[in-house]
Amino acid sequence: MSVNPYPLGLRLAGLRVVVVGGGAVATRRVPALLDAGADVLLVAPELTPALRAHADAARLHWVPRRFVADDLDGAWLVHVAVDDPTAAAEVSAAAVARRIFCVRADDRHAATAWTPAVTRYGPVTVAVHGGGDPRRAMTVRDALRTLLRARAAPLLADPVDLPTGGPGRVALVGAGPGDPELITVKGWRLLTEADVVVADRLVPGLLLDELRTGVELVDASKIPYGPSRAQEEINRILVDRALGGAFVVRLKGGDPYVFGRGGEELLACAAAGVPVTVVPGVTSSIAAPGAAGIPVTHRSVAHEFTVVSGHVAPDSPESLVRWDALAGLRGTLVILMGLKNLPVITATLLDHGRPADTPAAVVQEATTGGQRIVRSTLGAVAADTTAAGLRPPAVVVVGDVVTALDLAGYRG
Ligand code: SAH
Repeated sequence: MSVNPYPLGLRLAGLRVVVVGGGAVATRRVPALLDAGADVLLVAPELTPALRAHADAARLHWVPRRFVADDLDGAWLVHVAVDDPTAAAEVSAAAVARRIFCVRADDRHAATAWTPAVTRYGPVTVAVHGGGDPRRAMTVRDALRTLLRARAAPLLADPVDLPTGGPGRVALVGAGPGDPELITVKGWRLLTEADVVVADRLVPGLLLDELRTGVELVDASKIPYGPSRAQEEINRILVDRALGGAFVVRLKGGDPYVFGRGGEELLACAAAGVPVTVVPGVTSSIAAPGAAGIPVTHRSVAHEFTVVSGHVAPDSPESLVRWDALAGLRGTLVILMGLKNLPVITATLLDHGRPADTPAAVVQEATTGGQRIVRSTLGAVAADTTAAGLRPPAVVVVGDVVTALDLAGYRG
């Protein structure tokens, strides 16, 4: 008998697939079946907590007992995910009698279908069969995954969803706080697919280093107008290039919607009829404290964290932040764009009652080679920051969480 399987992509939307067994194997198989839209019937006396969560959320039907042959009525496919060979053979026999393909986790020789090792890359699914050797399949799959995620990706991605001449689209992508590895997998994929990249000052330079040749790179920080004209100009570039048919990635530091003007860009695109995708990013408001060994929440220390912009001084009539109210909070206060106004910000918090000995820290250029940390107190942090010569971009953290992990000796 030939060992070569015949490869197929099963389109399972709405079709009944039976999974027998509720342990580790089923836990690994079920998500892909659900992702394919299958109508999953899970037959097992007991489930792992992850499978239980699927059942509780009604993403699948669970029959809490041992398998009986009639469970296969109406099924297109069955996965056997039990160790017991007798129980597994019973399912196989029932499947053969009904002409239903049967995957066997316990014995691939007894199976009528094999599951491949899989990796996904946007719309592309790669499925690898290793001639009956699952480890070989996984090794090849891992190599292909590395290839797809690295240089080969643009070759694949180019023509996929850009019909020539049609309207393009825009993706607002969060690039993360600074370490080029802290972009999301999706953000990275879209970046490798872009025709035009419009990048912020805070975007990790190393990400731009890896763009394929031929990509038009627009440096938004070099646009020679004041901040509001510059934003209009950015909006215009996004819309114009997309209407010209390009796939435009607007790459922004951290998360696009945290003091990033992502909302304005989305509205401008929407007004021009340009489709927009938004890819969240790791925001510096959480990552910068984290990189310094400061958790923004910690059980029984802080059950809230508040993120504010300090770019407008508290005593300015233009300030939208209720600093007096913030002074009354017990939890963590994270201040972005706050270095210039730090003396007046801390003075305002002290005036309204936040204690001067509250721990405080400033983290500059978090998650990059230039990361610097100053640890202090609310009363002294402004002077300490100046004395240490810290510069933007930096995040200020105020609250007891600043010292919560000190016992662990971890200091970023
Ligand atoms: N959208 C971004 C924030 C943009 S506002 C995000 O979600 O992270 C710019 C401010 O972010 C800077 O002034 C600084 O306060 C903060 N910031 C961004 N990157 C930083 C980094 N690597 N280290 C410290 N602060 C950072």
